[in-house]
Amino acid sequence: MAKILEGKFFSNLMKDESKKKIEELKSHGIEPALAVILVGEDPASQVYVRNKHLACEELGIKSIEIKLPTETSKEELLAKIDQLNSDSNVHGILVQLPLPKAIKSHEEEILNRIDPLKDVDGFHPMNVGNLVIGKPTLIPCTPAGCIKMLELAGIEIDGARAVIIGRSNIVGKPMFHLLMARHATVTICHSHTQNLADITRQADILVAAMGKPRFVTADMVKPSATIIDVGINRVERSADEIEKLKSEGKNPKPTKLVGDVDFENVEKIAGAITPVPGGVGLLTVAMLMQNVVRACELQIENRI
Ligand code: NAD
Repeated sequence: MAKILEGKFFSNLMKDESKKKIEELKSHGIEPALAVILVGEDPASQVYVRNKHLACEELGIKSIEIKLPTETSKEELLAKIDQLNSDSNVHGILVQLPLPKAIKSHEEEILNRIDPLKDVDGFHPMNVGNLVIGKPTLIPCTPAGCIKMLELAGIEIDGARAVIIGRSNIVGKPMFHLLMARHATVTICHSHTQNLADITRQADILVAAMGKPRFVTADMVKPSATIIDVGINRVERSADEIEKLKSEGKNPKPTKLVGDVDFENVEKIAGAITPVPGGVGLLTVAMLMQNVVRACELQIENRI
């Protein structure tokens, strides 16, 4: 049976690291501050923003929540970002995605307006470029959190064969650079990859980031591999499962979250595995807090 890489355990370690740095900054009269802009009423985004706010509160980071109506124009949003960029008391700026339909097509322009030194999501082309040339400054939180967890868990990356399923700018591509920089031999797979299972079976470290519920099955996994399940998918519970939970005195909701990995079966052969929920999602928030501290330090050093 695989070792379960509990997100809570590793995110607490990461938060402890941040706490020390935050105390240090505060002793010099600097209160790290994160501004999160939420446009519209997307329910999942509201949950994510709330979680970020709670993490800030826990660590002593000032949390500035800016809620804008769905009909906010691109110009209004850019003006808000400009205002936050020039406010020296704001160290991190994050625009919660997805944006409402009317401004979605301007997403790139909007994200690129954030000062790269305050870009705690690590999406700005300058931060992406720094990652690619091996001089990472602010790195996307999900892949950075996964790497941090591997390091804290003592899982060898140097020389490992790593396979990533998914090539998004948010997860797959930055993960590729982070693993390669740590001397793994890395393969990225995507929706056009042929014979996917032949490739995934070679992985010592397998990262699933595709958004397909329970796609990675036990026959796709090398025994003893480390499995990082980034996927978050909401699925219906079966009637049997609902009945079973009721018989245990529980009151189950009709849907639940699952990852991209068939956890129940892969757990039996993997060496280590992250659960969903309770895995990578928690690391993402903890890494965001580390990025706010890092942004604060970068602004003090005023370098990038
Ligand atoms: P995306 O939709 O941008 O990218 C999905 C990728 O998967 C694409 O590159 C695509 O080529 C690949 N893919 C799709 N079908 C495939 C197939 N059949 N075979 C091989 N590759 C295939 O998604 P994303 O933004 O990278 O997110 C991926 C998943 O991770 C989603 O479930 C998302 O909700 C989740 N996510 C979780 C966190 C977290 O904090 N845990 C953060 C970001 C994303």
